[in-house]
Amino acid sequence: MTETATIANALGSELSLEELWMPFTANRAFKRAPRLLASASGMYYTSVDGRRVLDGTAGLWCVNAGHCRDPIVRAVQEAAATLDFAPGFQMGHPYSFALAERVTAMLPGDLDHVFFANSGSEAVDSALKIALAYYQSRGETQRVRFVGRLRGYHGVGFGGISVGGIEPNRRAYMAQLLPQIDHLPHTHDIARNAFTRGEPVHGAELADDLERIVRERAADTIAAVIVEPMAGSTGVLIPPKGYLKRLRELCDKHGILLIFDEVITGFGRLGTPFAADYFDVVPDLMTVAKGLTNAAVPMGAVFVRHGIYDTVVNAAPAGIELFHGYTYSGHPLAAAAGLATLELYETEGLFERAASLAPYWENALHSLRGLPHIIDIRNLGLVGGIELEPRPGAPGARGFEVFVDCFNRGVLARVTGDIIALSPPLIIEKSQIDELIGTIGTAIKAVA
Ligand code: PLP
Repeated sequence: MTETATIANALGSELSLEELWMPFTANRAFKRAPRLLASASGMYYTSVDGRRVLDGTAGLWCVNAGHCRDPIVRAVQEAAATLDFAPGFQMGHPYSFALAERVTAMLPGDLDHVFFANSGSEAVDSALKIALAYYQSRGETQRVRFVGRLRGYHGVGFGGISVGGIEPNRRAYMAQLLPQIDHLPHTHDIARNAFTRGEPVHGAELADDLERIVRERAADTIAAVIVEPMAGSTGVLIPPKGYLKRLRELCDKHGILLIFDEVITGFGRLGTPFAADYFDVVPDLMTVAKGLTNAAVPMGAVFVRHGIYDTVVNAAPAGIELFHGYTYSGHPLAAAAGLATLELYETEGLFERAASLAPYWENALHSLRGLPHIIDIRNLGLVGGIELEPRPGAPGARGFEVFVDCFNRGVLARVTGDIIALSPPLIIEKSQIDELIGTIGTAIKAVA
């Protein structure tokens, strides 16, 4: 079907919607009833028809410092005018080294080296490769298996969807996923944990499923376990108390690397620099993206512990140590955006701000309890999940209608199936939390 819908763009000329194949979007429905954003500032977007839209999702979990912040804009402009690009293979430039020094200084434990990519998906694939390279370097060449988790989201590369556990993202590609992957069970348990504030009490024992996988596969065939410390894209699944510590212990026991995918939780989302800090569990590798540059320029990264870098790089014979990298790894504009972003987080104390707002956020979210069809509300840091009962025979329909209704009322929310996921910029004011939650409540009642 050819879409002929056109709308006036921000400059007033006609804009065709047909040619663009939109990602993770119902293209045909969107083009019949488009939702277009023209500009952004601070906590708000402005739609192409001039409406102000409160950003309840920091874009896509990424604009943690709020939109179009001056220091970041200036840093990107300056870098663009100074060094538009420099090759990163056998060459370097100051921006990426400066960002590497600055960002590794924020990391817990002995995570102290960084490999740059351009997205969360690339960071995940890079981390999986680094894990394999690490065991190759150690002579444990049989350690090739990965363990992911059901409902996990690790982006859309073949590595990421193989260890990921979101069925629709895998279905069409099933025949060509990476081999030798196992999955832990997910931790979502509404029957026991519904309406928990913060970390749920029940479920730490689900980590013990790693012992089953170890029994079936043999520990010394497993290279790494990868999990999101708090699963975001699948609909805000908060880890049960003690679960991540248990997973860390089991990985240590069996010599398996633990990878935290902190693409969402990194850079203040939980009120600490990383979820690793929040849960006091240090992984061996950590993947990040999104908040690293406040999303102003795409960038992803893998943080690795000292010993991993040392083993792969310093123990290798002369020459290139890791045959992996991207043309845009450590791109000057992205690195400049990253430097300005980290500076802004620090000068405005945004991570601490998120921590201090978290109790207000929690109360506001849980005030929705009792509205029609809400079967769970969950929260951690500045993240909220509101799970709605699916309509019989039409899973996702109710959630999507709430999302559209919110947008029409001037609030950007995000839905995954029937779960509303909220993650506002960390600069949100209490009055804006009230506006956000109030509008969502009104939308839930209106859609019913
Ligand atoms: N990993 C996690 C935990 C994510 O939430 C995401 C995206 O939301 C990704 C990886 C993929 O990131 P990107 O979309 O930048 O490739």
